Amino acid sequence: MPELPEVHAHAERLTTALAGAALDAFEPLSFTALKTYTPAPDAAVGRRMERVWRRGKHLLLEFPGEPPLTFVVHLMQGGRLRPDTSKSRKPKNGLARWRFDSGAALLLTEAGTEHRAGVWVVAGDPLVQPPLDHLGPEADAIDDCRMAELLAAHSMRLHTFLRDQRILAGIGRRLANEVCHRAKLSPFAATKKLDDVEAAAVVAAIRDTVDEGLSVEREHDEMTASADRPGAVHGRTGEPCRVCGDAIREIAYRDYTVNYCATCQTGGKVLADNTTSKFLK
Ligand SMILES: [Zn+2]
Repeated sequence: MPELPEVHAHAERLTTALAGAALDAFEPLSFTALKTYTPAPDAAVGRRMERVWRRGKHLLLEFPGEPPLTFVVHLMQGGRLRPDTSKSRKPKNGLARWRFDSGAALLLTEAGTEHRAGVWVVAGDPLVQPPLDHLGPEADAIDDCRMAELLAAHSMRLHTFLRDQRILAGIGRRLANEVCHRAKLSPFAATKKLDDVEAAAVVAAIRDTVDEGLSVEREHDEMTASADRPGAVHGRTGEPCRVCGDAIREIAYRDYTVNYCATCQTGGKVLADNTTSKFLK
């Protein structure tokens, strides 16, 4: 799933391509695409798109006016929002299309069968209403002190904490793996037990992984495929750790994998999850 760096760089890309263009039409192509009834998307027709912005893992297409209107797009796992050059009547995996007066168009597609990507149309401040109102602070904007408070306020595994959008917005499974490795902390570390030094290590690790992801992402014309995203542990089971040379290990769940280095992160202890690991009955 695209996470903070991928979505952020993509918002910049779409702003460069389309800022200032006026909306000619919004076309839902699938009955699952539009998640809101009011305001109608047509209320934005004729308005200029000021920019594409980001909140958490959502893209925000902003149309100023009275009231301001925002299309909030969540790509989820397989969704993509791209300039539509072919403008075919029934685009493959098409969910929705925005047509602009410049002749350009944006097409939202979703590969796979999950059908979880979607579009919300919001009037007024989009940050204080669904689907964005439940989001925690941006993960890369939290200081050491606030992080220590958040860790102490929750009783969960660090990896789960990092991925919880209500606590921190923007981090998913890939970045959670990378942040734990960079901070030299176990993905299973109990958040309540982390001290101030460890909280500061989490903050630094988030900033570094986001910066690394952003700089790679900005070199591409399109959102990268997951295999092209940078990292030391995610998806690297069996490869040598680039810090210590130990083999990267995995805990495999039904839907995803936690990767870590035992030497760097757990004092050599091999983790096993006896609650939900797919290998255990
Ligand atoms: Zn290591």
